Amino acid sequence: MKISKRAQAVPPSATIAVTVRAQQLKAQGVDVVGFGAGEPDFDTPDYIKDAAVGALKAGETKYTAAAGIVELRAAIATKLQKENGLKYAPDQVIVNIGGKHSIYEAMQAVLDPGDEVILPTPYWVTYPEAIKLAGATAKIIQTDKNNDYKITPQQLREAITKKTAMLVINSPNNPGGFTYTPQELKAIAKVLEGTKVYVLSDEIYEKLIYGDTKFVSFARLSEDAYNRTLTLNGFSKAFSMTGWRLGYTAGPLEVIKAMGRLQSHMTSNPVTFGQYAAIAALGDPAEEAIENMRIEFERRGKYMAERLNSIEGIICSQPTGAFYCFPDVSSHYDRNINGAKIGGSMDFAEALLEQANVALVPGLPFGCDNNVRLSFACSLEQITKGLDRIEKWLSQ
Ligand code: PMP
Repeated sequence: MKISKRAQAVPPSATIAVTVRAQQLKAQGVDVVGFGAGEPDFDTPDYIKDAAVGALKAGETKYTAAAGIVELRAAIATKLQKENGLKYAPDQVIVNIGGKHSIYEAMQAVLDPGDEVILPTPYWVTYPEAIKLAGATAKIIQTDKNNDYKITPQQLREAITKKTAMLVINSPNNPGGFTYTPQELKAIAKVLEGTKVYVLSDEIYEKLIYGDTKFVSFARLSEDAYNRTLTLNGFSKAFSMTGWRLGYTAGPLEVIKAMGRLQSHMTSNPVTFGQYAAIAALGDPAEEAIENMRIEFERRGKYMAERLNSIEGIICSQPTGAFYCFPDVSSHYDRNINGAKIGGSMDFAEALLEQANVALVPGLPFGCDNNVRLSFACSLEQITKGLDRIEKWLSQ
C-alpha cells in the first residue's frame, strides 16, 4: 500500500513504547507509579465548564470565523497586553486547535524546503516532526547541563547560517523544567538583530514558574524581538484544559493571516462552545485557580528534585518552571541491574518499569540520552512512592 514519503518520515513517538507497556502492566493489576503525564492532574475549573455549557445551551454550536470568534481574539489580545506587556490587535491573534496545532501551522506558514530551524536540546518531541513536515531541517544544538541546558548566545551565533529561518525557544521548558531569565533571553535576542530569523516562542507553561523565577515573553524584549516573534500559548496547561484543544498564536499580521488561510482549509474554527469557555477562562476568577495549582506544583517539584538529588548518581536541577524534573541519570549507564543492561535512557526507562513498576519518559526522544523526564503532575503520595521505588531499585 502506498504511504506518502511525508507520513513515512514521521516515526511513532519514541515515548509511546513505555506508555503502552505501563498501560499493559496496569491492566494486569500491577501497581504502576506513573511519572509520564504531560498534563495537569487537576480538573478544568468549574467556571470554565459552566461557560461551555452556557454557550451550548445558547446555541453556540455552529461554525465561526476560521481564526476564531473576534471576542476571543480580542480577549487574548487583552491578556497579552495586560499580562505580557504585548500590544497585538485582535487580527494579529489566531486561535488554533491546541498549542500543537499552533506550532504545526506556524511552521507551515513561514518555512520552506531548504530552510533551517535552530532547535536547542532538550526539545519537546513535536518540534522536529513539525519542522520536517514543513520541509525544513532541524539544526539541533546540544546544550550543556552546566548551563542548565540553555542555548548560549555564542552557540546561537555559531549556528546561524544563510539558511536559518527560525529559532525555537520554549521557556518554561518541556522536558527540562528550566526557564530562561530575562537577561538570557535579551542576549539571545541581541544575536538575532540584523537577521531574518523568526523566533517561535512557546510560552505554554508561562503560568507555572517557581521560586523567584521571572517570566518574560520573548516579543517583549525589544521592538526587533516583537517584529520577529510568533508568540505561542494555549489553555491546556494553565487552565487544565488539555482535552479542549485550544491554543493560540500572536505575531506579525501577515503571518497570522497566512496561518488563517491554511486553517480555513485544514480544520476551520476551533470548537465553537470551547471558544466561549476560553473567554471565561481568561476572566477574573482565573487568577486564584491558577495560583492554587501553581503553589501545589511548586511544592511537588521541590520535593521531587530534592529526593532525586539524594539518590546516588542522580543529578537534578531544581525545576523553575513547567511540571517536570529532568535528571541526569547517566552515571548508572553501563550497569547491569537484575540482568538488565542499562545502555541509555531507553533501557533505563524500560528496566525501571519492568522491575520497579515506575513509568517515566526516556530523554533520548528529547535529544538528551543522559536524562529522563519525570512529571510531577501527580499527587505527593505517588511521588513519594515512586521515588522510594527508584531509590531502592538503583541501590541494588
Ligand atoms: N508546547 C509544549 C512545550 C508542550 O509541552 C505542549 C503539550 N505537551 C504543547 C506545546 C501543546 O499543548 P496542546 O496541544 O495541548 O495545547
